[in-house]
Amino acid sequence: MTTYLLKLGELTLKGGNRIEFEQILKRNLVTMLKGTQAVINCTQGRFFVHCEEAKEAQVESVLDRLIGIAGWAKARICDKTPESVIAACIAEAQELVRSGAKTFKIEARRADKSFPLDSYGIMRAAGDGVCEAVPELQVDVQQPDQVISVEIRERAYVYGYSHRGRRGLPVGSAGRGLLLLSGGIDSPVAGYLMANRGMRLEAIYFHAYPYTSEEAQKKVHHLASILSRYALPIRLHTIPFTKIQVRIKERAPDQWSTVLLRMAMMDASGRLARRNKIHCLITGESLSQVASQTVENIQCTESTAGLPVLRPLIGTDKEETIRLAREIGTYETSILPYEDCCVLFSPAHPILHGNLQEARKWYAQLELEELLQEALHNEILEKCSADES
Ligand code: ATP
Ligand code: MG
Repeated sequence: MTTYLLKLGELTLKGGNRIEFEQILKRNLVTMLKGTQAVINCTQGRFFVHCEEAKEAQVESVLDRLIGIAGWAKARICDKTPESVIAACIAEAQELVRSGAKTFKIEARRADKSFPLDSYGIMRAAGDGVCEAVPELQVDVQQPDQVISVEIRERAYVYGYSHRGRRGLPVGSAGRGLLLLSGGIDSPVAGYLMANRGMRLEAIYFHAYPYTSEEAQKKVHHLASILSRYALPIRLHTIPFTKIQVRIKERAPDQWSTVLLRMAMMDASGRLARRNKIHCLITGESLSQVASQTVENIQCTESTAGLPVLRPLIGTDKEETIRLAREIGTYETSILPYEDCCVLFSPAHPILHGNLQEARKWYAQLELEELLQEALHNEILEKCSADES
C-alpha cells in the first residue's frame, strides 16, 4: 500500500468556507481517481490518498493535474514512537541520497501533543539519527537540497521530496463559465486559468462548415478533452455559424466584418450561458494582439454579451501564453493547421478603433434574431472527458 499526503495551500486561508472548499476538492479527487481503487481520507485539513503499488503512476498523474493543492508527497507511515520515526527518516534520507541530495534538514510538526518529543526534540533526534546513519548527507538549515518532514497526527508520517501542486482553488468552487473555445492557442489557456481559480467550464465553438472542415471541429473537441484533464469533464456546444457569417459578408462593410462576427458570437454565447445558468463568458483575448482586440473593439464586441466577459490573458504576452499552452499540453493540438472560421472571412483592412454607436448600427442592420435562434437551436452538444485526450 502506498500513501500520498496532499498539502492544501490557499485553501487553508478560507476560514469559515474552508469545509466547503475541502468537500469540493474531495469530490473532484474522487472523480479523477475513478478506476484506481484508491481510498481518500481527510483529517484535520490534510488529505491522504492510499493506493496499491501497481496504481502509483496513475494516482501520481492525477495529483499532478489536481487543481487546488499546493503540493503532494509520498509518505511513510510509521508507529508513533521516536524510534520508528527516526528509522523512517533514515530510510527517507537514503532515498534522497540516491536521487543526488547532499544536504538536508528535518521539519517536524506535532499535532498529537501526547508524543514524547516536541517538534524541536523530533528535529534534533531525527537529525542526529540521519547524520549518523547516512554520513553522505550534511545538515543545512538555510538552504537544504531536501527537507524531510515529520508529522505526528493520528499516525506518524514521514516524507521527503514534495512535488509542487497546481495550486489555485478546486474546480467548482467559483461558479460556472462558458469558454469561447476556438482552435487557437489562447482560448484553451484562458480556460485553464479560470479553472485554476475554481471555475467549472462549459465550452462553445462556432463552426462555419463547409468553410471550416470537420477536422477543425474535432480539434476543438480534442482541446476540450485535454482541458478536462484538469477541469473535469467539459460540455462542448458546437454552434453552426455559417449563415450568420454569410449574412455579415452580405450586409456589412468588409472592414467591420470581424468586429460584427465577434459581436454575434458574444450575443449567442450570452444567450446560451443564461439559458444554462452559467455566470460569465471567458475568451482568450489579449490586448491589441489582433485588430479585433483593441480596447475600442473589445468595447464593441462585449456590448452584446449581457454577462461579464472574463479575459484572463488580457495582459499576457504571447510567449507566456505559449509557455502555458505547452505546460498544460494543448499547444501541439492548437498549432495543427485547420482554418479557424474567422480567417476565411477576415478583411484585408479591419477597422482598428470601432465606434460603439456605429457598431450597434451595423449590427442592427444584420437582423440576426432569427438566424441566432436557429443556430442555437441546432447546437451539437458533446461531453469531452480526460480519457479521450
Ligand atoms: P485564439 O488563439 O484563442 O483563437 P486569437 O488570438 O486567435 O485567439 P481571435 O481569433 O481573434 O484571437 O479570437 C479571440 C477570442 O474569441 C478567442 O480567444 C476565443 O475565445 C474567441 N473565438 C474566436 N473564434 C472562435 C470560434 N470559432 N468559436 C469560439 N470562440 C471563438
Ligand atoms: Mg483564433
